[in-house]
Amino acid sequence: MYYFASLIHEAVRLRQKGMPVSGVASAVGLLYEDPRTGDQIQQALQDPFFPLTLYAKHHLGACERGETGVARAGQDLALLSRMFLRVRRDIDRYFENREITCVDLNGDATQAVNTGDWCSLCGVCCQLSGTIPDPPETVRYPGYWYTYIAGDGPLVQRFCPFLFELPLQGLFFCAVHHVKPLTCLAYGKENCEENHPGMANR
Ligand code: SF4
Ligand code: SF4
Repeated sequence: MYYFASLIHEAVRLRQKGMPVSGVASAVGLLYEDPRTGDQIQQALQDPFFPLTLYAKHHLGACERGETGVARAGQDLALLSRMFLRVRRDIDRYFENREITCVDLNGDATQAVNTGDWCSLCGVCCQLSGTIPDPPETVRYPGYWYTYIAGDGPLVQRFCPFLFELPLQGLFFCAVHHVKPLTCLAYGKENCEENHPGMANR
């Protein structure tokens, strides 16, 4: 296994156990020639809500294609980190951090999350290349959100960039849950049971 891939697997393992990832995050960041890119990756890896498990699931497999694949996976991590940090910052800037989703984005990964609803927060339905970026009538997104939601950004998206993770609980949540696109809002229990049988809570 390539060193890059082994570091990512280790970071996933540590995050899922609630252990510090600063050492591994630093080691991954140092693999990048450009220090700013390395710093961004390090910052993203240490963020409790960064969807590292999804990155590993959907992008790390490229490493099996040899050095070209490792370069691709590394580039994808750089892009995803930049996109994540940008979305995270603008959720703060344009919306009330605590109001916009079902998770306290000022909190940490150990916080309790209400999963009493039918949706189990498995995140499966948001692992798609894009959807229609149609916000609720009273909401305006920062311009680039339309591109990210549609999947027209710089990354070949395997999951929505607004899908964040709670690694300790093994849950995924929409970072813009209360202002999510109407297309996403309309996705109800019946759609879930039809498209992803067995994923919803009973
Ligand atoms: S697949 Fe169903 S249970 Fe899972 S996140 Fe989507 S709507 Fe919720
Ligand atoms: S905006 Fe939210 S609900 Fe819609 S696909 Fe992205 S993560 Fe899922």
